[in-house]
Amino acid sequence: MNLLKPILAITFSIFLCIGVACAQDRQVEWHPELTDDWTPVTDSVITTGAFLEPPSDAIVLFDGTDLSHWQAAPGYFPSMEGVPGYLEIIQQEHGPAPWKVEDGVMTVVPGSGNIMTKQGFGDMHLHVEWKTPSVIEGDGQGRGNSGVFLMGLYEIQVLDSWQNPTYSNGQAGSIYKQKAPMVNASRPPGEWQSYDIFFEAPYFDDDGNLIKAAYVTVLHNGVLIHHRERLQGPTVYIGLSHYEPHPRKLPIGLQDHGDYVSFRNIWVREL
Ligand code: MG
Repeated sequence: MNLLKPILAITFSIFLCIGVACAQDRQVEWHPELTDDWTPVTDSVITTGAFLEPPSDAIVLFDGTDLSHWQAAPGYFPSMEGVPGYLEIIQQEHGPAPWKVEDGVMTVVPGSGNIMTKQGFGDMHLHVEWKTPSVIEGDGQGRGNSGVFLMGLYEIQVLDSWQNPTYSNGQAGSIYKQKAPMVNASRPPGEWQSYDIFFEAPYFDDDGNLIKAAYVTVLHNGVLIHHRERLQGPTVYIGLSHYEPHPRKLPIGLQDHGDYVSFRNIWVREL
């Protein structure tokens, strides 16, 4: 029996598969749109209640007076991609937070850079109130974009998602590039909104193996939009995420994405 033909066919198939896999890897590497999810989220408009005042055991990170709990953050969030030593860098001390505080509100100074807390946090309930500009400029991801970076790595997207189509895993409240919110609980631009984020930090053993993934539950304006959702890894703009070992506590970051997004009443309860 002549085995040469089937052997050649099998060998050719193996090389073809490897070639296709490599090509797919390269595509993921260079095309951010491959991880955009355009499945629409229910466009609910929900009337919600009052904002939460800080509980007595909360660490108040911003009470409207100053940025003493904050500092400049190096680089650009999401930051793990392509920045060697990022984890070490965000654990070092940096200069003063370059954003503006006025009338009890802090506002992004576009182009000045991200900010992050001086203190590190892991498992937490984080409360953040935010507002996008009342005058609409831009569209999609260019409209009121900022973000809350848990541990400086995992972004809950801040965006003006009031009648503003974009990929749903990039709209307000999304776990950016990983999971769309269950509903769109956004208020109109210029109105204050809130996130209550219940975060379980990932856990790694001494050899850097992932023992437990990160999980997050999020209320947007008091409405549940994620229920103990498993994070795939740190936020990346391009390609698929995977975990890299990191400490149990890291700073909370806020993103300068070039838009005049404001924040107030930020507090955290460590869990
Ligand atoms: Mg963002």
